[in-house]
Amino acid sequence: MLNFYPGPSKVYPQIRDFMVMAYDEGLLSIPHRSERFVHMMRELVGLLRKKLNIPQDYYLFFTSSATECWEIITQSLTPHKSLHLYNGAFGEKWGQYARRLRPDCYSQSFGVNDVLDVPNIPVEDDTDVICVTQNETSNGTQVSMETLLKLQNQFKDPLLAVDATSSMAGLNLKFIRADIWFASVQKCFGLPAGMAVLVCSPRTVQRAKALNDKKHYNSLVFLYEKMLNYQTGHTPNVLNLYLMRQMLERLPLIKQVDQQLVKRSQELYSFFEELTEVQLLVENPEVRSQTVLAVQGTGKQILEIKKNAAAQGITLGNGYGDWAKNTFRIANFPAIVDGEYDVLKDFFRKNYK
Ligand SMILES: *Cc1c(COP(=O)(O)O)cnc(C)c1O
Repeated sequence: MLNFYPGPSKVYPQIRDFMVMAYDEGLLSIPHRSERFVHMMRELVGLLRKKLNIPQDYYLFFTSSATECWEIITQSLTPHKSLHLYNGAFGEKWGQYARRLRPDCYSQSFGVNDVLDVPNIPVEDDTDVICVTQNETSNGTQVSMETLLKLQNQFKDPLLAVDATSSMAGLNLKFIRADIWFASVQKCFGLPAGMAVLVCSPRTVQRAKALNDKKHYNSLVFLYEKMLNYQTGHTPNVLNLYLMRQMLERLPLIKQVDQQLVKRSQELYSFFEELTEVQLLVENPEVRSQTVLAVQGTGKQILEIKKNAAAQGITLGNGYGDWAKNTFRIANFPAIVDGEYDVLKDFFRKNYK
């Protein structure tokens, strides 16, 4: 079965052997205060920096999910309010979660085909964090690194937090253009679900220390204090840390991964642009995601395409949120190889050209 679901998505095939290795090496029962754990964590952090191009002065943390990162940002970095700029289901949900904890948090939506209009964003006083979903997995749009730079230049005081769940480890993100980045690993990382990476600028850690929230087991100051010794507060997902470490060692540098993905996304967009029965959901090429494509049709068409694809051994991603019924999604993630996209294209060529 070919799996184009944009998360949980296809895991790297090497994961199978790495899981056996982890068992055989006795890793699955190591204490998280042991030297062996610390050694593994130190190597993993070094590899993440090197392979993903994360600046040396940025801090790395591990959490259980992107959703947990949303909560940490509100709990530990938002004494007053955050602003949520969104055009899809994940960005919207982030705002809703934040409001449950801090009722003054506010959201501003923009259109699926719109580039964020940075000069006209209404930022209220006392906004602690501006939150952006870099790659909106629900509709296949993205916020460019140029837009992040504009946000950074225009709003100097609030921290800039970026949900990069479906782009980190796929695209060459410019980490210096924001303060906080996070991603769960079941998307572009090609790993099993149950863990997330949280990347923070020095300014973010300073702010966390000044605010000193210690009310939660996952308060950022606790994560920070433990990570000084390459440890975590609670017993972490050791298997997934190990899998990530093994995988990263073998993956090319992100610049190369990015080039391959961008090229493949261009080919996919050209291909789907030519189909007559269905259309691309996002019409503006400038804001199209390079890692998740959303294809639109009538509810009946989409249902039929997904069914026919499944019969040919191809899993397409369901639509999500507002687009649940009238779109399907295709992941363009590094763990999926070119040959699989050839099969996908053949299927559409034969049936829907
Ligand atoms: C998948 C996804 C999430 C949620 O990830 P969890 O690991 O389930 O918390 C959040 N944001 C974006 C953009 C996503 O794609």
